[in-house]
Amino acid sequence: MHKYCNQCLYSTKHPFGLSVYESGCSGCSTHQEKNEINWQKRYQELQEIVQTVKNKTKGYDCVVPVTGDAEDYFVLSKVLELGLSPLVVAVNDYFKNDIGWHNLHQLITNFDVDSVIFNPDIRVYKDLVRTSLRKFDHILLPFLSLHTSFPVHIAYERKIPLIIWGQHQAIEQSGKFSHYDKVEMSKWSRKEHDLFETDIDTLIGNGAQVNTRDLNYYQYPDIAKLSRRGIKGLYLSNYFRWDPLVQNKKMLVHGFRPERNQSSFDVYERAGNSVYYQFHDLLKYKRVGYRKIRDHLVREIRHGRITRDEASAIESQYNQSQVNIRGFFNWLDVSQSGYEWFKLHRLNDVKNLICETDVEKKNIILPEKLTFLVEQAYCSINEFIYFGKGI
Ligand SMILES: [Zn+2]
Repeated sequence: MHKYCNQCLYSTKHPFGLSVYESGCSGCSTHQEKNEINWQKRYQELQEIVQTVKNKTKGYDCVVPVTGDAEDYFVLSKVLELGLSPLVVAVNDYFKNDIGWHNLHQLITNFDVDSVIFNPDIRVYKDLVRTSLRKFDHILLPFLSLHTSFPVHIAYERKIPLIIWGQHQAIEQSGKFSHYDKVEMSKWSRKEHDLFETDIDTLIGNGAQVNTRDLNYYQYPDIAKLSRRGIKGLYLSNYFRWDPLVQNKKMLVHGFRPERNQSSFDVYERAGNSVYYQFHDLLKYKRVGYRKIRDHLVREIRHGRITRDEASAIESQYNQSQVNIRGFFNWLDVSQSGYEWFKLHRLNDVKNLICETDVEKKNIILPEKLTFLVEQAYCSINEFIYFGKGI
């Protein structure tokens, strides 16, 4: 039997692993640390790390992996504030819509930074997406593999000693580690939390016909090689009192465009992605039993902007939201009969949530403390744009 936390909406079934106590859960108690830590002192610690790095480097001081998310804007603004010279690294997931491409280009031009954008071989990439869907009910694993390893390869190849990430998801959601641990990037954590214990090797175990050379960037570089070069990755959420909704709203001044979606009130996280709140959200529900909205609501409960009861009522409304999945299957070049087969055999339990036309975006009433942070957002015009203008 899984147990529910009486403070938030998570249960012991959380994919990262979560402990439930009499008065809360590991995620809720780790969140409490945010009110105890001396963040000013943490910032000074970060400045010291930065100074040590800057004394060693001549060119770029750090790699900042980005997708064009509001969080990336926040991270980059802090990196520049710290006086670091960053190289921004992005992997094309081929899932961006017009808002997604705007946000990525705007990030690079607004902060005036150098960037590397990697466009993986699309045939291989789609093959991996297909296999990942078949084996794990997950369509983002190939992208997540690249996003969490390609920037590390770049750091190694170009001898850049530091990689700066935003939040550590497993700390934020389930309190897997304490902020006091100051966890750094590792091959183990990537596999356990970013890739849900799968590995690209598992992904290509059978099925996808892929040349190993193409797969190099999907795999994490050799750890011994990395440590010989002294490369390390930090999470900014260990150094700032992490509050995504508040941070992300502030990024509008830099030209970030929020996007409306029908599956959550959060118009900042993963804005500009054609699958995140659509097919990916449906698959998340199928795999773990809840949708992205729960992650957002739990976060807001912990920040004190919504009560558990209010959150629970809002979740049940968003849980009814249908998602358009046809666009994804077109992207994957699946025939009509293949699509019908998949729906019948693999999505039968969630078929009431499937929609094949554009979905109406509901207006769900939120508590005032939240409405205040959720901006009027844009709606996309074109989905699934492989290459954005100027790239
Ligand atoms: Zn909890």
